[in-house]
Amino acid sequence: MVSFIHEISHEWQRRTTLREFRQGRVLIDEICDADFLLRAAAEHHGQASARECPICGKEMREVTWVYSERLGRRSGTARNEDEIARLVAEVGPITVHLVEVCAHCKWNYLLKEFTAVRQA
Ligand SMILES: [Zn+2]
Repeated sequence: MVSFIHEISHEWQRRTTLREFRQGRVLIDEICDADFLLRAAAEHHGQASARECPICGKEMREVTWVYSERLGRRSGTARNEDEIARLVAEVGPITVHLVEVCAHCKWNYLLKEFTAVRQA
């Protein structure tokens, strides 16, 4: 089992970004820029988001990415929760980024960062 500590939420920045977009101070191309890899990762490794896309109102997915020097080439890849638990068991604590992705309009946002650790 794995638990998540040191969570950093970017909800406040997300709201600010969306407000600036609605005010016309941010262009849609700047915030709806999910590339093919990110969209494919969300499709294959992600799960349905509880929220709808703040830009187009369609369904979104949330996908987690793992980062650690100890992961070698696996650092910076999309992983589901089971895989994260296995990686933590293998190499110890790792950094995880939770990103929401809309495949329809390409909106994407880093929602949270946290550290995944082995549950005591
Ligand atoms: Zn969208």
